Amino acid sequence: MAYRSETRLVHGGTLRSQFGENSEALFLTQGFVYDTAEQCEARFNNSEPGFIYARFSNPTVSMFEQRMAAFEGAEAARATASGMAAVTASLMGQVKAGDHVVAAKALFGSCRYVVEELLPRFGVESTLVDGADLAQWRDAMRPNTKTCFLETPTNPTLEVYDIAEIAKIAHAGGATLVIDNVFATPMYQHPLALGADCVVYSATKHIDGQGRVLGGIVLASEKFITDNVHQFLRQTGPSLSPFNAWVMLKSLETMPLRVEKQTSNAAAVADKLAGHKKLKRLIYPGRADHPQAATIKKQMEGGSNLIAFELDADKAGTFRFLNALKLIRISNNLGDAKSLITHPSTTTHQRLTVPQRLELGITDGLVRLSCGLEHKDDLAEDLFAALEQV
Ligand SMILES: *Cc1c(COP(=O)(O)O)cnc(C)c1O
Repeated sequence: MAYRSETRLVHGGTLRSQFGENSEALFLTQGFVYDTAEQCEARFNNSEPGFIYARFSNPTVSMFEQRMAAFEGAEAARATASGMAAVTASLMGQVKAGDHVVAAKALFGSCRYVVEELLPRFGVESTLVDGADLAQWRDAMRPNTKTCFLETPTNPTLEVYDIAEIAKIAHAGGATLVIDNVFATPMYQHPLALGADCVVYSATKHIDGQGRVLGGIVLASEKFITDNVHQFLRQTGPSLSPFNAWVMLKSLETMPLRVEKQTSNAAAVADKLAGHKKLKRLIYPGRADHPQAATIKKQMEGGSNLIAFELDADKAGTFRFLNALKLIRISNNLGDAKSLITHPSTTTHQRLTVPQRLELGITDGLVRLSCGLEHKDDLAEDLFAALEQV
């Protein structure tokens, strides 16, 4: 389709039933019936296209997959029950015992568990590197390195890694590169165009964008999906429910409006907060003082709705700040219509040791704010009032 991206998010992938419904239908069906035994046989041996069983194909789920693929510019997509199911499938689907994986240290907590704890239990070794240091990626590559994995911007410190350069290193070593693109959103960063082989999302975040359902998606070339992801998902079964796919599908229609507003709110709030006397540092991709501002300029088309900042306070002082917020609620989700704030060291990154946390810049004073759709001045006023309690 030659349409521009917003148009693809409204129309991409639409499958109309015989009733000609305007809004996409919700097909709550596990199975499908066949006119004849011959047709059933043909579906099973792939000589006739069509749906067979909702563990691996359902019209509503398929519309969500096709709409996301059209937007991302991917040949193929597979939806999953959650973001973690997408991450796990994209990695586990590629490796076997004896293989090796390189990943950036700064990963969403559960992603780090998969790489650091789960893969080694099945004989897949992993090396964690400082994602911003290209020399560390180069040094970590081994003849048996099968895939490299990173998220950028990272959770929670919003570091940005150079996807094109890391893709070159991975490919030179005969490995693939998988990007967890949640923090950038499908709007502001296009990893496949930058050289990555596979992109994964937790659709739970900006794609739903209204805090309702869990979901995930893996996007890649037809070959990558066929070789690595299709059978893994089809046979192990972490499929997206048609209801959740329908919620996500309708959400995609308004995603650009929401993400643009969340991002402009975050940019305004970051500018107001920067330099506040109670803050030690503020990190916002989109400000010129971001440590990787040059990489952001090269590979991102917008900032983020997330801001990280470090209070000049211990855990007790930081908790006083969080507890004093009235509008912004304490929650570990992100990308929601409502603004949400998280204390990573006691929640998402609690599993790490103190030295591991400090290595990632996760101190007791660090908080991560996900800006929602409220008025930017109400957000800023809430933050400024609470900072008085530090
Ligand atoms: C939330 C998140 C995940 C996991 O997604 P779920 O839908 O909660 O399973 C993975 N990676 C990143 C960066 C996330 O923010």
